[in-house]
Amino acid sequence: MTRLVILGKQGAGKGTQCALLVDHFGIPHISTGDMLRAAVSEGTELGLKAKVIMDAGDLVSDDLILGIVEERLAEPDAENGFLLDGFPRTDAQAQGLVEMLAPQGIDIAIDIEVPDDVVTQRMLARGRDDDTPEAIQRRLQLYQEETAPLLDFFSSRGVLAAVDGLGTEQEVQSRIISAIESRD
Ligand code: ADP
Repeated sequence: MTRLVILGKQGAGKGTQCALLVDHFGIPHISTGDMLRAAVSEGTELGLKAKVIMDAGDLVSDDLILGIVEERLAEPDAENGFLLDGFPRTDAQAQGLVEMLAPQGIDIAIDIEVPDDVVTQRMLARGRDDDTPEAIQRRLQLYQEETAPLLDFFSSRGVLAAVDGLGTEQEVQSRIISAIESRD
């Protein structure tokens, strides 16, 4: 069973690391941001609602997010493990996840640590619709307020592994894989 959660600020390199990890472990990459962006480009009702919130750098409601994650985790490819990216992001989402997965829970939550000035530069360089200076600042603020407290949540459950996110993609990847394998 490989049930992974990847944590870290916006721009910490989660997307890049996730692509490498899903190859390595053969598990699906479940990114709430990607699912929301897919809904936006399909122009669904959910997508239209989400776009305004996302462009401002705000968080989509917990109920909505929990609904899409629960549906996604029920797909057959998630039976033997998964990599959750961008979720959970709030205490309510973390509690919801624990309920969804009971009695097993998560095997490991990896926190990719990168300082604010570095992630801000990386986001400005990639230039997604929500990578404006205002939306970036809002997302980093919400990360501190809503998501950073989840480090304690996972740590108190004994599943947190912090990894230094500076260095090459390959270096960060090796650190993550050793953190995961040292628990097996
Ligand atoms: P980033 O981490 O760079 O903000 P994501 O792709 O993870 O990128 O998320 C983009 C946007 O999608 C967020 O700013 C937020 O509006 C919305 N979003 C994604 N995941 C969640 C979530 N778990 N809860 C609430 N909103 C979310």
